Amino acid sequence: MVDMKDLVSLCKRRGIIFQSSEVYGGVGSVWDYGPVGVELKNNVKRAWWKANVYSRSDMVGLDASILMHPKTWEASGHVASFADLLVDCKKCKKRFREDKLKGKKCPECGGGLTDSRRFNLMFKTAIGSVEGQSTTIHLRPETAQGIFLNFPNVLNASRKKLPFGIAQTGKAFRNEITTGNFTFRCREFEQMEIEYFVRPEEDQKWYDYWVNERFNWYINLGIDKKNLKLRPHEKDELAHYAKSCHDIEYNFPFGWSELEGIANRTDFDLKQHALISGKELVYFDEETKKNIVPYVIEPSGGVDRAVLAFLIDSYNVEKVKSQKRTVLKLHKDLAPIKAAVFPLLRNRPEIVEMAQKIVKDLAGDRYVVYDDTASIGRLYRRQDEIGTPYCITVDVQSLDDKKVTVRDRDSMEQDRISADKLESALIEKLKEA
Ligand code: ATP
Repeated sequence: MVDMKDLVSLCKRRGIIFQSSEVYGGVGSVWDYGPVGVELKNNVKRAWWKANVYSRSDMVGLDASILMHPKTWEASGHVASFADLLVDCKKCKKRFREDKLKGKKCPECGGGLTDSRRFNLMFKTAIGSVEGQSTTIHLRPETAQGIFLNFPNVLNASRKKLPFGIAQTGKAFRNEITTGNFTFRCREFEQMEIEYFVRPEEDQKWYDYWVNERFNWYINLGIDKKNLKLRPHEKDELAHYAKSCHDIEYNFPFGWSELEGIANRTDFDLKQHALISGKELVYFDEETKKNIVPYVIEPSGGVDRAVLAFLIDSYNVEKVKSQKRTVLKLHKDLAPIKAAVFPLLRNRPEIVEMAQKIVKDLAGDRYVVYDDTASIGRLYRRQDEIGTPYCITVDVQSLDDKKVTVRDRDSMEQDRISADKLESALIEKLKEA
């Protein structure tokens, strides 16, 4: 398995992930996605949207805002209980989450620990332009509540019948205490959440369905099954709103850890918001002519954690002709760049021109790049390191036979393909498993 140090270094070198505000020394647990990383992240979100919205008739999308009415977080229980219990070491002053400690001593230096204190993880800010008259509001710590508050709006607008879901991706913020492990635990991160509304008596059926569905999503996108497992929550571990919860865990280099949680949130949230707002948040059942409050099954995953797992799982180091080759064997749907085009000789204008025309023809619907800044071997290695499935080389012979060499990332086999058939060939190749 990849050493995290090697992965972090590759991410920086190849423009996948950078530390935020690095020139000022950085901000803890906040990360920026570079030119290659932003593509990977967008592809992960797109694959999620395709599987959960476009491929289904029982799901619609939403993009709710980060700032929400302060009452939201009172109703949801976040003001009262979205907190960690913290202890400080009296000797080395380090801070720890009490629930993660094994004994009563500091795990770093063995010093004594203070009593625990509650620390709310929500970031506070102020809304309103007049100093002194502003109101405290929070940056959302999860995207889910934006879905619950829009339940009646979406229902009216989409006329969906139970069961149906609302899907959303978006930023969430948590002032995490115990950080580290690269992008696994960030203070600003992105979630991909579904709230799937069902008849209360059908909750278990849909819960089981979504656990299975979400587990398979990672496998279909190339994660090795042996690196994934499902972990049911113990009763004393369940969140205040949940009847049951399963975590999908990934075998990270730092241990098995949560990628996504699937929870049965019952009717807790809709009822809470109805109670505090005084508005009805119900579904009118045409058959019984009665209002019902649906139960909610929530698959809630992190984009950043998914990206990290895809990077780790696809990272391979191979020996090729006694040389080391680092290659990200990413699923083609996730690969940031779909093809890279090189001129074998960059001092031959006709070759450069032909290569640039190929880029122009192939780009637009997919990300295709041109590169002539190194020798062909180096160019291949660079693209392997960021998981580009195909490299296309234009050589002297191409000028005569109008064919180019297409090299496969994984097998490293090369094909000669007519330049005018390149786009259809690439489309077919990108669909192949
Ligand atoms: P953890 O126990 O690791 O703190 P959690 O159980 O609090 O996570 P949830 O509230 O269930 O997490 O959030 C749903 C998903 O959002 C998680 O499965 C994870 O993928 C993602 N997520 C939560 N917190 C973070 C974070 N600080 N950084 C990155 N992703 C996060």
